[in-house]
Amino acid sequence: MTIPTSSPRTIPILLYHSVSAAPADWIAPLAVTPTTFAHHLDVIVSRGHTGLTVSHLRDALRGRTPWPERPVVVTFDDGFADFADAAEQLIARRLPSTLYVTTGALRGRGSPAPELRLPPAHMLSWSQLAELTQRGVEIGAHTHTHPQLDVLPAGLAAQEIRRGKDLLEDELGREVPSFAYPYGFHRDSVRRSVRMAGYTSACAVKNALSSPPDDQFALARLTIRADTDTARLQAWLAGRQARIAPYPEKMTTRAWRLYRRTGGWRGKRLPNATNATRS
Ligand SMILES: [Zn+2]
Repeated sequence: MTIPTSSPRTIPILLYHSVSAAPADWIAPLAVTPTTFAHHLDVIVSRGHTGLTVSHLRDALRGRTPWPERPVVVTFDDGFADFADAAEQLIARRLPSTLYVTTGALRGRGSPAPELRLPPAHMLSWSQLAELTQRGVEIGAHTHTHPQLDVLPAGLAAQEIRRGKDLLEDELGREVPSFAYPYGFHRDSVRRSVRMAGYTSACAVKNALSSPPDDQFALARLTIRADTDTARLQAWLAGRQARIAPYPEKMTTRAWRLYRRTGGWRGKRLPNATNATRS
């Protein structure tokens, strides 16, 4: 019999992008080498953490499954081709993960979506997704073209939110219940669209530890950067050196959104190395 454990005070949800020794320049500040990634996973395993997908986390949050010892959630955004090798490292350590893919960037169905906001990089192909799913990787949606959803007209944002889910569900033949906001950007109407599309969880960024009372449609994640050292990772896993979500949205976050919405931000690309909410 499984004896339910009490809920944790903090839940580290780690956000990776690329695991490569030679990443595209634009993602390099958020890329780690395969050696560093292996080291991170060894730290997670040696500390006795139990890996969860985001949907497993949601089940525990809703009381459907007992809390495991020291839960940790490993997530990846965008769908870079190097995830295939990273997945082997995760699988070798029996660590599940959630991969949020931008469907318009995936290879294998002609050219990338013309409106795609992600700069060029070597991405996963559609044909790889089903096998990843069978091996413990949860596939989540991350829109079709990777727009800043919080400054799009609500109708267009809703289309982006649904399209990635529909395409992935058609490909995989199963429900895709989790979503991640590109760049972590969201607002009330965007979160509503996510719920109405049928998702049951969504990840933001926030660079904070999540916790049981965190918003299940804006879960806090911790961005792993090229310069995130082991001491920082250890501290996060121990529930230290980061704020604990939920907490009130900062005035500066609202001001930054207003600035982008009113056209102050005209570029398509965001300064991903400096912007704390890049995903
Ligand atoms: Zn992204």
